[in-house]
Amino acid sequence: MTPVGQAIAFLIGFYALMAALGYLLELIGKAKKAIQEARKRREPCEHGVRGGWNESRCPECVRLKEEAAQKADLEHKKKLRKQDIAIKASRLRNSETERIRKSLLKSQDYLRSLSPQEFEDVVAELFRSLGYDVKQTPYTNDQCKDAIIFKDGKKSLIECKRYGPENKVGRPMLQKFYAAMQEEHAGKGFFVSTGTFTSTSEAYASKYNIELINVDKLVLLIQEAYPDSSSTDTFKTMCLECGEVLNIPLKKFVGKCSNDHIIKNDLDLASISQMRTHPN
Ligand SMILES: [Zn+2]
Ligand SMILES: [Zn+2]
Repeated sequence: MTPVGQAIAFLIGFYALMAALGYLLELIGKAKKAIQEARKRREPCEHGVRGGWNESRCPECVRLKEEAAQKADLEHKKKLRKQDIAIKASRLRNSETERIRKSLLKSQDYLRSLSPQEFEDVVAELFRSLGYDVKQTPYTNDQCKDAIIFKDGKKSLIECKRYGPENKVGRPMLQKFYAAMQEEHAGKGFFVSTGTFTSTSEAYASKYNIELINVDKLVLLIQEAYPDSSSTDTFKTMCLECGEVLNIPLKKFVGKCSNDHIIKNDLDLASISQMRTHPN
């Protein structure tokens, strides 16, 4: 063998040896770790049983483990139930708030406290509840039509005026409205006002198929559309702890459910009347 061949053979042998050595060390390391782990598993538990906790050889440790698992399971279920109650409570609060808001609509003062936009929204929602398909026009530049509505294939227009009790809608306003009706080819018009109408406007309206809805008639329509919105004295609320539904007085107060959980109510008639469907 040439010296070069000898050197190559030596190197190959050396590397093979090193690889074998490395493998051996790794094996030893693994064995050591396994021994350590086995020792740890067999550590006596607090009740003095070898492997009592880690290998479940101690009946007392097994019992404690089962207890902890049951407790965790119970906590989890409790958490889920609370989440469920929170969702239901929030739904109830929304539906109750909406019910109170609708019953507020029967108050002329409340209707007049709305902004013109809010009033248009209220009237649109009312006609929807009365079975009309309602398309509201943009708030600005509506050209004497606040909504185009359809029922049984017939097209009508709505115009809204949120007026004070002493404000009267006169004939010129209805003439403009009728022009809008003709332009839209609408067969009928509803002119809704929180004020009243002059007698000449009434004569004009009956001639051109315009239904005048003054504040009294509006309140009647609201009653017809929302028959469920009765009492504003009481308010249904749900206990967030146990889910019990309570009929509480509609005012800010702190009370207790029948299971002695604290019930806090932060709503009263004033705060609900401040709520608006549209910001501003
Ligand atoms: Zn034990
Ligand atoms: Zn409760």
